[in-house]
Amino acid sequence: MKHYLEVQHDIIKQFQKKLCLYPHCQNKNKDIIKAHTIQKSQSLKSISESGHVLQFDQTYNGIKDFVLYGSCQPKKVGINKATTFYGFCKKHDKSLFSAIEDDEIIPTEEQVFLFTFRTLAREYYTKSAAVNASPVFENIAQERPEIRHFLNIQNAGLNAGLKKLEKIYLSFSENLMKRNYSILNHLFIKINQIPDIMCGGLLYPDHDFDRNLIQDLTDVDILEWVSFTIFSQYGIGYILFSWEYESTIVLNFITNLLTHSNIINRIVGFAFEYTENIVFSPQWWNKLSPAKQKDLCFRAYDNYHYDFYSEN
Ligand SMILES: [Zn+2]
Repeated sequence: MKHYLEVQHDIIKQFQKKLCLYPHCQNKNKDIIKAHTIQKSQSLKSISESGHVLQFDQTYNGIKDFVLYGSCQPKKVGINKATTFYGFCKKHDKSLFSAIEDDEIIPTEEQVFLFTFRTLAREYYTKSAAVNASPVFENIAQERPEIRHFLNIQNAGLNAGLKKLEKIYLSFSENLMKRNYSILNHLFIKINQIPDIMCGGLLYPDHDFDRNLIQDLTDVDILEWVSFTIFSQYGIGYILFSWEYESTIVLNFITNLLTHSNIINRIVGFAFEYTENIVFSPQWWNKLSPAKQKDLCFRAYDNYHYDFYSEN
């Protein structure tokens, strides 16, 4: 069996694969950069301390520390690295996203489309990497038969999820090439301060804000998704949800959110629960009560029911 560090290296390698997800890009390997999903100079810098923001460690080690030792200590991440992935070449990262990086956020239909495309690209990249890393876990399972059942479920979910994302990605790529941006509904919230947390993800909400079940996550084919980004520009905070016009479950989910009085608090809780691509201000985190910190930490890790870590 491979040494633990070798296994970790194999997994990390999958998450450093370089490619450009701009449709038909020829720069397959060269000029691929660390593309930010949350803009660095306007957003990440504004909540950083000595060039760092905080993030819960969602790697194997981080999850293990949470499950075995209840560790809720977020780790520091440099803003050059935070929220990045190797999913675009330099040329396309700049040209494709200039309407949301350099222009004022209105948002126009094009801007909503681009925010959505960016969360989609990251999700597609991450899921592909996870599927490519699954043979590494197969090796572990040979030594640890108790994780076999968990692994089978995880692999089935990952493969189905990737197939679905591929479909969404191809359809978005086609619309991007035709400059057909009018396919998305959205909710845009402006707040008069820089948000303490920032995130970007494409996810499948399974409960509304009253904890009612709204869709069954096991049926991947018919799942409805929502793209979700929190960022800032010129000292103003923005929250953007976007979804396809025909997604009625998501529309009801958003309508349910708007019936609540403390919308921002609800959104913060939702952000920690549903996306791992989330960073936050060290100053804000350090001022939270231990109970509040624990609550957010449990929200962040609760999606992982890794029972097999509880070794007897
Ligand atoms: Zn490219």
